[in-house]
Amino acid sequence: MITYYSTEHQRHHGVELKDAAIKPSFEKPGRADTILAQVRQAALGAVQPGQAHDSSLYVGAHSERYVRFLQQAWSDWTATGQTHDALPLIWPVRDLRSDLEPATIDGRLGFYSMDAGSPITAGTWAAISASADLALTGMATVQAGAPAAFALCRPPGHHAGPEMMGGYCYLNNAAIAAQQARRQGAQRVVVLDVDFHHGNGTQSIFYGRDDVLFVSLHGDPVHCYPYFSGHADEIGAGAGLGFNLNLPLSKGTAWPAYQAALQVAAQRVQAYAPDVLVVSLGVDTFEHDPISHFRLASADFVRLGESLATWGLPTLFVMEGGYMVDDIGRNVVNVLQGFEGGRAGAQPV
Ligand SMILES: [Zn+2]
Repeated sequence: MITYYSTEHQRHHGVELKDAAIKPSFEKPGRADTILAQVRQAALGAVQPGQAHDSSLYVGAHSERYVRFLQQAWSDWTATGQTHDALPLIWPVRDLRSDLEPATIDGRLGFYSMDAGSPITAGTWAAISASADLALTGMATVQAGAPAAFALCRPPGHHAGPEMMGGYCYLNNAAIAAQQARRQGAQRVVVLDVDFHHGNGTQSIFYGRDDVLFVSLHGDPVHCYPYFSGHADEIGAGAGLGFNLNLPLSKGTAWPAYQAALQVAAQRVQAYAPDVLVVSLGVDTFEHDPISHFRLASADFVRLGESLATWGLPTLFVMEGGYMVDDIGRNVVNVLQGFEGGRAGAQPV
């Protein structure tokens, strides 16, 4: 399996507000580098750079004005004389106007975000556009006939909505790849999100559409970030009614319950008969992950990969979350090796 990787991600490491203090963001460059080291050590396959794509390909998953905001945010911010990381501090929540885009960068930061978890730094655009380009390159590889590819995206993307950054995410890499698959002729695309956190951004992007089915296994939003999205009764709207499947799981979920939910997902996907599968691959379901509450062991990630292989679909893996840096690489590679082993085992002799 080819891994697509770019060093551009190293240009982005911002700050976040945590424990009443500004600290270096938990989502840090070491995550991707650890995964890359494990990919190489396991001899998973070639590691290649992504191809640069025009930012117009991010439109569709996102609005044009949101992409422009991201592209210009740092220069707009520094034009005000500020040189530290830009964080939003006010949001258009209930009873406030969200139909008018503010003229100032301070206003626009809040207008285009859901929380203060996505700092804008000098290197943010370079990193997030390179990250999205890895997903686009991976999708091109899969659509050209490869059974699978791995886009080692950083920053992650699944919390980013049509006009919204948040949760360490800016451009929704998985959604951008799914949208590109549709442009390139796929009739039906599935995005399966196995990150611990609900992929609220991906859900929002495709909520009114039946050409991209979104399926997510995640921590119940009653207890877990992002709190305001991910319930089972969110099933799509309009043309997309019935094409959004949330499978929220309780704290402490271990492999047996997880596998059962994965079976429900498999049945829905099978009925949908997609042309291609995009997996939002987060491994923060790991039992020792510092910010999550599931209990998957490292060996369970092999089982996850094996299960996905039985779906028999061309598959693009897109890296999302996972924060136990010492183990994140091993768990990601376990999924990918499980997938490859599962495919080999499933092939007729
Ligand atoms: Zn996550």
